This record gives sequence, C-alpha cells and structure tokens, in this order.
Amino acid sequence: MKIQDLEFEPFISSADVQARIAFLAEAISRDYAGLTPVFLPVLNGSFMFAADLIRKVTIPCRVSFVKIASYVGMESTGDLRTLIGHEESLFNQDLIIVEDIVDSGLTLRKIMDELRSRGTRSIEAVALLRKAPARERSIDVKYVGFDIDKEFVLGYGLDYNGLGRNLNEIYKALDYPQDKT
Ligand code: 5GP
Repeated sequence: MKIQDLEFEPFISSADVQARIAFLAEAISRDYAGLTPVFLPVLNGSFMFAADLIRKVTIPCRVSFVKIASYVGMESTGDLRTLIGHEESLFNQDLIIVEDIVDSGLTLRKIMDELRSRGTRSIEAVALLRKAPARERSIDVKYVGFDIDKEFVLGYGLDYNGLGRNLNEIYKALDYPQDKT
C-alpha cells in the first residue's frame, strides 16, 4: 500500500489489536477496582485506541481528551509544548494517560510531569505501541499493547502526513530511515 512517497506493509492485524486491547482493559479494570479513574486520551492519534479500550473497561470511569499544542517560543529557539484541554478538575484523581505510541517518551514524560504538578492522586499510562527508545530509557508506561522496534507505523489512528488514521489495522513503512523516527 502506498501513501504519498512511502510504501507500507501490514504489520499488526485488526484481530490482534482488538485481542490485546481486551487484555489491557481487563488488567486496568482489575487494578482500578473500587476506584473511578479518569482516562486522558492524547489527541489526535489515540482516538481510535481510546474508544476501543474504554468501551471494554468494566469499572466506572471518566474520560477527558487532551492535546499537546506546539508553539514556537518568542524568546526560545525550540518548540514550547504545552498540554491543553484538561479543564475538568484533575486534583486528587486517578489519571490514566492514553497514548497511541511512545517513541522517545519525551511527550509522555512532559504530560505526566505537567499533570503531576497539579496534585493528582495517581498517574499511569497506557500505550498501544512502545518503541525501542522508550524501553531503553525506562519510560514509565504501566500498560503496553505491543513492543516494537524503530519502524514507522500508521493506521488505527496513527497518520502519515495526516493520512491513514482510518485504517483498521497497523502498517509499517518499508525502507523507512531509522533516524527519521
Ligand atoms: P515521543 O515524544 O515519544 O518521541 O513521540 C510520540 C509521538 O510521536 C506520538 O504520539 C506520535 O504522534 C508520534 N510518533 C512516534 N512514532 C510514530 C510512528 O511510528 N508513526 C506515527 N504515525 N507517529 C509516530
């Protein structure tokens, strides 16, 4: 399958994704029994994973979507990235960040630090995919769907230049330069 300049091949089937999500939902429902956690899916990429995961969770829970906005700082040369959308009070709540994919883990670390500074009761993360760099850096992801190498993936919410989010299964790019991910 070709999307713009990149060729993709099937990687993780829809059935495998759904089976793994059922396992994750069961683990979360068990671990949070007696609590009412707040799921915080990080837009855009996690919308499909979050919808399938949360509908399989069997305990009472809340959902509030968040997004990372990138600003070019007026004084700094780098991007200032900040979390938006979490208007509900998260104080003293059990938060579960829902991520599509954790690569370097810097995005997740930033989100967790920012939320922690607001005084949450607990904070954990669930990610459908985790790449090797996050594993090597011991990024704190309690619930992981699939551990993968450094391939560039798309489908099931994940995009390439905005395309491919609607695909039901996950694809990986052929011949994607390892230093681009
Ligand atoms: P990190 O901060 O962990 O390096 O990057 C995480 C973000 O990078 C993800 O939320 C996702 O938006 C993007 N990303 C990382 N790897 C991939 C990939 O293989 N495919 C797609 N579509 N996005 C990726």
